[in-house]
Amino acid sequence: MSNGDEIVRKRDSSGRYLTYSFSESLKARKRNRERDRRWREDHPKRMNLYRRRWKKAHPSKDARSKREYKKRNREIVLSAERRRRWKIRLKVISSLGGRCSRCGTDDPRVLQVNHVHGGGQQELRKLHLTNQQFHLRIANGSHTTDGLNLLCANCNVLYEYERGTYANFHPNVHKAIVRQES
Ligand SMILES: [Zn+2]
Repeated sequence: MSNGDEIVRKRDSSGRYLTYSFSESLKARKRNRERDRRWREDHPKRMNLYRRRWKKAHPSKDARSKREYKKRNREIVLSAERRRRWKIRLKVISSLGGRCSRCGTDDPRVLQVNHVHGGGQQELRKLHLTNQQFHLRIANGSHTTDGLNLLCANCNVLYEYERGTYANFHPNVHKAIVRQES
């Protein structure tokens, strides 16, 4: 080689030796990379399948890469979660009439899902659901809206007082109110 190029010997897939010069081999590698990249771009469905398979085969690596992505992109991830949660909330609120069933306020920031006959938290605990998961079920129609209504935060507190939920915890306050009313 007059240009000082090194000779590289490589086996091909059938085990035969191929002889390249070093610069040729670099060029070939670059070409192959480019070809692979284009293939991935042209086959998004296939890539999705491979990715899903890889995730299934490497659950702990997948979890780690998700964690690391989340750490690196905290704000993006959090705001996406917030947006998603609000979308679900608004859907639930509109499916329950969009207003507080007592005072009629329609500000979604203060509206809460209420079980008409009480026992909501016990039901969620029994089903091992978080509030968030419960909302999702209402939004996608897998939980009935029967027995549910909307109350704003204020009316919800008053409602709970009237049901006697808090009476036991604040006996003196409760007595004072009763005295005032009578
Ligand atoms: Zn209200």
